[in-house]
Amino acid sequence: MGYNILILGGTTQARQFAEAIAGRAELDCVMSLAGRTRAPVTQPVPVRVGGFGGVAGLAAYLRQHRINVLVDATHPFAATISANAAAAVRQTGTAHFAIRRPPWCAQAGDLCFEVDDLSAALDHGSIGGRSRRIFAALGRQELQPLITAPQHYYLIRSIEAIEPRLNVPRVRYVLDRGPFALDDEMALLRAHNIDLVIAKNSGGDAAYAKLRAARELGIEVCLIKRPVLPEVASVDTIEAAVSLLDHMLSSPAGEEAGRVVGADDAASDLGMERGE
Ligand code: NAP
Repeated sequence: MGYNILILGGTTQARQFAEAIAGRAELDCVMSLAGRTRAPVTQPVPVRVGGFGGVAGLAAYLRQHRINVLVDATHPFAATISANAAAAVRQTGTAHFAIRRPPWCAQAGDLCFEVDDLSAALDHGSIGGRSRRIFAALGRQELQPLITAPQHYYLIRSIEAIEPRLNVPRVRYVLDRGPFALDDEMALLRAHNIDLVIAKNSGGDAAYAKLRAARELGIEVCLIKRPVLPEVASVDTIEAAVSLLDHMLSSPAGEEAGRVVGADDAASDLGMERGE
């Protein structure tokens, strides 16, 4: 008997999870991408692209495609789609869990502080007054607040060109796609004489090298706190995600067509966390 799995993706972890289950004949997997990147990386499973049309649209998709398990492997800052997923599965009764990487924590030797958002970062006492050389490791659509602080030099890295350009006098753009190696991150920070990194507290390995590089070079880091995410069954590794999926599918309820055991029950059987 086959099962339909929908993965909400757009992250390295989503691709790794898809890779881990792609070869299994009993699983029909689809990866959903928002469509933000014009040339997304190749995925190991079929892909659909674009929004669903809010909670109602996602619920309709789950019903129409008889999705057995919805796996939310989106980025921890993609709070809207995660909230929509939690609401849609409540409507349809679809089993659901999230893959959530733990947030990064400051380690001994880090010059690191956290703020609520980019505006708070720019207003922060240790940044605001003087001119800094800032690596703004942020998404294309999140950069606008930088124009309120034109006294700084900004280094912006993105997969696709930033258009329109930011209206600040000193800015350099680098086009590149992660994951990035520690040596390359150190070379980038040195080449631009960076003295502050501003980044989202994304967690995980794929984007961590810039923080290690900052630590090695004694550079200050300002981390933007995560948004509040819905409390759902969640795991933080690909291995745990595969185990939880298998547990849901192998439960007696999972063998009934179109339905599997509730994610919360399965997660609690496996000793998994609920929420962040
Ligand atoms: P968001 O604010 O949470 O979502 C906005 C809307 O985009 C959603 O309501 C949904 O539209 C659509 N959407 C988001 N993710 C989708 C997906 N995987 N499949 C289909 N539709 C999706 O999301 P975001 O922060 O703009 O992030 C968009 C995508 O980029 C996510 O897939 C995320 O994993 C990835 N990403 C985000 C970040 C980040 O920092 N935010 C970083 C790296 C990757 P409808 O309401 O029409 O369904």
